[in-house]
Amino acid sequence: GEQSPYYLLEKKDVKRILRQRPEFCSKADFGSMLLVAGCYGMIGASQMAALGALRSGIGRLTVHGPRCGFIPMQTSVPEAMFHADQHDIVITDISPKHEYDVVALGPGIGTHDYTVRAVENFINMSTNPLVIDADGLNCIAQRPNLLEHVPPMSVITPHAGEFDRLFGPHTSHESRLKTAVEKSAYYSIIILLKGRYTSVVRPDGKIYFIGSGCQALATPGSGDVLTGIVGSFIAQGYTPDLAAAIGAYIHGMAGTLAAENDGTFGVLATDVARNISKAIRDIL
Ligand code: AMP
Ligand code: MG
Repeated sequence: GEQSPYYLLEKKDVKRILRQRPEFCSKADFGSMLLVAGCYGMIGASQMAALGALRSGIGRLTVHGPRCGFIPMQTSVPEAMFHADQHDIVITDISPKHEYDVVALGPGIGTHDYTVRAVENFINMSTNPLVIDADGLNCIAQRPNLLEHVPPMSVITPHAGEFDRLFGPHTSHESRLKTAVEKSAYYSIIILLKGRYTSVVRPDGKIYFIGSGCQALATPGSGDVLTGIVGSFIAQGYTPDLAAAIGAYIHGMAGTLAAENDGTFGVLATDVARNISKAIRDIL
């Protein structure tokens, strides 16, 4: 019969989708990711997204950011490589030197004119699916028509404010969801609309509702961790729609695990990241 387009994603679904890691594996099996993130005063966003990617099993991670990010990134996340922009305090030139399985773009990059131009050039050059979040979306919102050039099956991860900057003002989650279904089909992109009951909307109209998570996730850097997770699962070979859905589920569960220790007031985004591996272990 006709299948409902609405799907409540549960733990058993994530367990079915996630692949166990074979004994004879190496990091080369788990993909490579370029994370474009950070500017002067927001290098923390690069750290959060990098931790999200590493804690969810990325095989190789390179972070592109302004030169001022070099020392903090190499000391706080030594597992990641750092590729410095020509500019000291903002990103002005996103030209990957190597091939990556996925590029995630946006946490903490700001919306300086130079950065908007760099994002525009990069999107126009890109053919593989991207993950775009935060200021990456705010940069896109400054260039009418740029969304048309985002490669098909890319994942955008707006919260309500970023969503409205892209698509105009809304007054409820329900009305945003309706717009998301239209825009996802029109642009052939996956829209991960964040909030309580995060929804992942596919171009064919299917919506995954994500019930995991709790109010502990309402903390700075939380969304940046999610960007890293979603990118990491795409790099590991999951299709972008499933990477977004299981990524959001695992992110929520990591937040709930962090809240079991620290309650709902005191959880940091780094605590959420720290609990990703535990969430995955509990699912498998
Ligand atoms: P951002 O606003 O970009 O930092 O993203 C916040 C993240 O935390 C998103 O993944 C939201 O879905 C999640 N989040 C925020 N508030 C809540 C809440 N009250 N319940 C569940 N998840 C939340
Ligand atoms: Mg955010």
